Amino acid sequence: HTDADAADATGETLRTPIVAVLGHVDHGKTSLLDRIRGSTVIEGEAGAITQHIGATAVPLETVSEIAGSLVDPTDFDLPGLLFIDTPGHHSFSTLRSRGGALADIAILVIDVNDGFQPQTIEAIDILQRTETPFVVAANKVDTTPGWNPQENTPIQQSYDAQSDRARSTLDERLYDLIGDLSDHDFSADMYWRVQNFANNVGVVPVSAETGEGVPDLLTVLMGLSQRYLKDAMAIDVDGPGAGTVLEVKEQKGFGTAIDVVLYDGTVTADDTIVVGGTGDPIVTDVRALLQPRPLAEIRTEKRFEEVDSVTAAAGLKIAAPDLDDAMAGAPVRVLGNREREDVVTEVEAELAALGVTTEEQG
Ligand code: GDP
Repeated sequence: HTDADAADATGETLRTPIVAVLGHVDHGKTSLLDRIRGSTVIEGEAGAITQHIGATAVPLETVSEIAGSLVDPTDFDLPGLLFIDTPGHHSFSTLRSRGGALADIAILVIDVNDGFQPQTIEAIDILQRTETPFVVAANKVDTTPGWNPQENTPIQQSYDAQSDRARSTLDERLYDLIGDLSDHDFSADMYWRVQNFANNVGVVPVSAETGEGVPDLLTVLMGLSQRYLKDAMAIDVDGPGAGTVLEVKEQKGFGTAIDVVLYDGTVTADDTIVVGGTGDPIVTDVRALLQPRPLAEIRTEKRFEEVDSVTAAAGLKIAAPDLDDAMAGAPVRVLGNREREDVVTEVEAELAALGVTTEEQG
């Protein structure tokens, strides 16, 4: 088991980095996520992509399978990548964790034909402000005139299979994009030429339509995470869970429930949780923890199954009494053996940092 392999002597475990997808409307965020989600391995097999609530987990084995020769899995000890399913910088900027961004790393999707657009610039500003490492996916390379699609291949292999004319058209578009990035004070280059990702943004040519470059994109995300996020990913898995509310909604048979991305510790079905809301923080006992069933079982059974515990990083649904006033973007904390008042204060402080106070809303 990857998590156990990653555990070090102090009992800390490396969790999966949380990945967000940002970019201008129609540049291909949803298509790219769909492509990654649909890319391999039948669900239920070991190491398969698994659907979480609000997120998709791609284990290292799967990254390595998709990336083929680009990835040597023994180079990595992070367990994989967790993609937040809701793309867009609006969701990115409302989803915080302890004052920072909920996502640890991001993909900025830019249509190679359309270049920088207003929401591209907004996304860049947000990524810069939150100091979130990111990679640029230069999407829709398959629309290059004369393109000869190479389904799911690494981009350089695909590039080599193109005509001179297609190659030079794509080069031109990519250099325009790199120019746009530099106009916005980002020194950027094709990812394979970037030596130091701390100072340079890597550009990965991709097609969400054909899957070309997707192996490279996953490889770069793994590499960046390993290089820059490893320390931040060390968590005490047995510690009290901490997460962020994605959505508050009715769950048939359970009343109001919250969809949560857990980024620290563990939540169990016996826990008491503190949840930020439109009024005072809600202190309530977990009724059920729900996760999607594997696809194979969906037809015969209910969509969700109850689980005893969930460990970060993961998406899950928490059903509990009194969640009607819970709020998307608000913190969720497992009380554990801490003082109730301390945790309530912590949740209030975090809400205040989000620019939300209970008085303002009242
Ligand atoms: P979003 O608004 O950023 O989520 O963009 P979508 O994923 O909805 O994509 C917008 C449109 O671009 C859709 O019609 C997609 O089919 C199309 N599209 C997305 N990625 C690609 C690509 O790589 N190649 C081509 N040819 N079309 C794409």
